[in-house]
Amino acid sequence: MEYVGSEFNEFVNRKLMLLVLTADTISLALNNVFGHLFHLNGIRMSDNEIYYELAVTHFFYIHYFIIMMLVAFCLASLLYRAFHAPLFYRSKYLLIAVIMVVIVVMNVLTFKSAIDISIMGYAVEAICIYYCVFIFTPQRLLQKTLLLVAQDMSVALFVLDIEGKRLYNNKCAEQLLSRDHALADREGTTLEEWCRHQYLYGAGEFNGEQTFYRGIEEVILKIQLQRMVDGNKQLQGGYFVIQDRTEEINKLKEERYQATHDSLTGLYNKEYFCEEAEKYINGHAQEELLILCTDIREFKMINDLFGAKVGDSVLVNCARMLEDQVNGALIYGRIGNDIFGVLMPKAIYDEEHFANEAQKAFASCMDKNAFFPLINYIGVYEITDRTIPVSVMCDRARMAIATIKGDYHKRVAYYDDVLRENIRYEQELISELDDAIREGQLKMYLQPQVSTEGKILGGEALVRWQHPVKGMIAPIAFIPVFEKNGLISDVDKYMWESACKQLRKWKDEGKEDLYISVNISPRDFYLLNIYQVFTELVNKYDIAPQNLKLEITETAVVIDLQRQMELIERLRRIGFVVEMDDFGSGYSSLNMLKDIHVDVLKIDMAFLRKAEDEERSKKILQMIISLSGQLGMPVITEGVETAEQVEILTEMGCDMFQGYYFAKPMEVEKFEELYLEGGKHV
Ligand code: C2E
Ligand code: CA
Ligand code: CA
Repeated sequence: MEYVGSEFNEFVNRKLMLLVLTADTISLALNNVFGHLFHLNGIRMSDNEIYYELAVTHFFYIHYFIIMMLVAFCLASLLYRAFHAPLFYRSKYLLIAVIMVVIVVMNVLTFKSAIDISIMGYAVEAICIYYCVFIFTPQRLLQKTLLLVAQDMSVALFVLDIEGKRLYNNKCAEQLLSRDHALADREGTTLEEWCRHQYLYGAGEFNGEQTFYRGIEEVILKIQLQRMVDGNKQLQGGYFVIQDRTEEINKLKEERYQATHDSLTGLYNKEYFCEEAEKYINGHAQEELLILCTDIREFKMINDLFGAKVGDSVLVNCARMLEDQVNGALIYGRIGNDIFGVLMPKAIYDEEHFANEAQKAFASCMDKNAFFPLINYIGVYEITDRTIPVSVMCDRARMAIATIKGDYHKRVAYYDDVLRENIRYEQELISELDDAIREGQLKMYLQPQVSTEGKILGGEALVRWQHPVKGMIAPIAFIPVFEKNGLISDVDKYMWESACKQLRKWKDEGKEDLYISVNISPRDFYLLNIYQVFTELVNKYDIAPQNLKLEITETAVVIDLQRQMELIERLRRIGFVVEMDDFGSGYSSLNMLKDIHVDVLKIDMAFLRKAEDEERSKKILQMIISLSGQLGMPVITEGVETAEQVEILTEMGCDMFQGYYFAKPMEVEKFEELYLEGGKHV
């Protein structure tokens, strides 16, 4: 029952069977005493030997019946199993069934004969069944099963005998070894030959990757050689397990490529560039090296004006140019949107050549008709400190670039001691700002704004830093620093509050007609809720919004025109006067006037002074002044330095002036002393 499986256990009552068999056994044993089943009659034969004859009673047939039923049951279950099992397993049952049938037949046939050979048969049967059940069938099954497993394995199995002849190969190996599309290495050795050679002459086991070719197609195989030894450590042969890893490795390579290269230009990406550069730097301790960064001027503009496609092609061209320049010998990559990084030995770097080639490459990727001066800046950091990360070296090269932006003639800049000193100075300013604000080192200076008649209308609030050690610092030295990192809004909030305090003081003194203009940095629009800050300020100090003029620049509004337009409208609606500062210095001034409604235009004479053709600039100035007149916007000109300028501007229709001609920015006390005590005229 165990052998044929659980199915039969269910519908055979084990207990009943056990009971019947036990009773039968006891009955057989008791036969010695009672002789109720059979007894043996001794018969003396003529040769004087005694033979025994089995004399059975009727009860014996009950025993016989039980035994036959048991045999029948065994047979039935074996046969049932044999015909329901897959072909593969049939012999497991059939073999025993056949042995049993033979024995039963023998038994039946010889039951009544003089000599019952079935007793001997039982012994043979027991041995046969034992052999089948425990030895033959399991081994055969194991063999068959192993063969099936080997045959269908997804790796190639290739077995060699002791002399290196092919003993077995599975399906997968067949494909690799088959003559039609045999794999061979560069020397033309086929895979099979290679394996045999490795087995016969190689050093013991082998485990590694090996490249073969099927025609021109590259196939990467992972090959493992194992030697087979028997119990006595005697060599029996060897087998190869071979795996085709081409796809996997190519995929890995592809993934690695994707992760380390920029998809647009195919150059290294930033991380990989830094990694490779670092390796090179560490490996060439004696060589003098440079880190170069290139940066395209106004790259965002190219995208905006000509579309991303042109922008992309510019980048691709730059990448090709770089490749040509460094001739594949060095490490380079795209480390930012429009920024390329190069690691170069100082010995081969030729500044002029490099800059010129870069310029040429640019010229070639733009449509000749769409004139846009593409300019490529180059920042150079000479590696003096090898311990700092490459990304920091790149930052330094880029810092050098930051110093030339705006200078039309300079293309290449070096990160040198001056720059390093500047950066240190900037860091110092940044760390000192908090204290400076708290200790009142920041001072509000006022520069008067004057009407055509010379009447003082108000003043522009300009910040000064009265530094305890460095002395007076002009805004030009620290405003750009704080604009870079956002601290500018702390400065501005402080200045706005100072202006409001001052207006409140004037209000209390009955001088309510004076205004103060404050500057709003473009960054403030993103860092602060401007509307809230200003409304809270005028409420806190209880002053009229009309007395606080807000100077904004074009840069602040162009980036998010719609939003800033709305903000300006809201500020104007509650009475703030909004002034467009530095008008004329941006890109789209005239266009902007169409969309943005401001109260006053502020023109800086400096822009006009720079122009070469004075007559032309005068005409432009004239045009702007009359245009703004027609739009109902007064014009204030700043940077006025001479009486002649005042005269001309007045003629042109300018309404207000600010400049050294009238007065330089001054301390508030001086401003009050000069203009508020006596008359309000200059
Ligand atoms: P801005 O707003 O255009 O201010 C006018 C600048 O021109 C001031 O320089 C002023 O001193 C200078 N100036 C006035 N009249 C003349 C003149 O006749 N000739 C010449 N050559 N220059 C004249 P300042 O005070 O050095 O300020 C420079 C810039 O720093 C300002 O330019 C402004 O953009 C910024 N700034 C100053 N204070 C603040 C502030 O509190 N907040 C913000 N965000 N920026 C400020
Ligand atoms: Ca200003
Ligand atoms: Ca200005």
